[in-house]
Amino acid sequence: MNSPAEYADRRWNPVTGCRADFGCWNRCWARARAMRHRENPTIAHRERYCGFRPAYWPERLREPCRWKARQKIATCFMGDLFAGGVLRHWQRLVFQMMIECDRHDYMVLTKRPGEMARFFSDESPVFCAAAASIEGGGTPFEAPVRQYWPPLNVWCGTSVSTQDDAIRRVPEVVGMGRYPWVSVEPILERVTLRPWIHGIRWVVVGGGNWKGAPMVKSWVEQLYHEAHDAGVAFWDKRNVLGADVKEWPTL
Ligand code: SF4
Repeated sequence: MNSPAEYADRRWNPVTGCRADFGCWNRCWARARAMRHRENPTIAHRERYCGFRPAYWPERLREPCRWKARQKIATCFMGDLFAGGVLRHWQRLVFQMMIECDRHDYMVLTKRPGEMARFFSDESPVFCAAAASIEGGGTPFEAPVRQYWPPLNVWCGTSVSTQDDAIRRVPEVVGMGRYPWVSVEPILERVTLRPWIHGIRWVVVGGGNWKGAPMVKSWVEQLYHEAHDAGVAFWDKRNVLGADVKEWPTL
């Protein structure tokens, strides 16, 4: 996933890990961090053992309940919630928690938006509540059946680095939920979002931290103008535009 989300108030990682499906595997900061932890004896044994394999952390599931004020939460950024190896049951639990603790906004970002779309088409709030009930030993969570699916407080996003990524991934999130968004990070070439810009609410642009990842100002400017022409909020993570362009979609 992208580098740590400066735009989020909190990070929440009840599911971590990913699979080596894309070139990002070798430059993934989350994977690098997990690998470093494997060598660190102060880190809990299970975390060291799991490394970057998909894993569920039940002790983290209810963390959002403890945060009383409304928060913007980077959800499962230490991996990809829709990677192969992430069990459907885990995904249901995460979504149930987001439905239940709906005072927060949850940013979900995936490089597999087709899998996210499949999840929304196969599942429902009822299935998620049932999964949580089983997990809780038969004690149901407060399981409101929501009218909206995807939940309105879940920001469905995809991450792209190239135009080819954009062509394959962005159409999958257009119109998905209330706040479909695109993170162009690390931006590796000139990318246009113009064909889909009216179907998304938020664009984030950032660069990479590793050698060989340039951050060209005109690439960012182009995306900024595309977003602004369409009334879409824009977040310039690296302050490439020279001004503090850090906008939220209207909540
Ligand atoms: S998809 Fe995201 S989490 Fe998975 S390896 Fe790539 S950058 Fe890392």
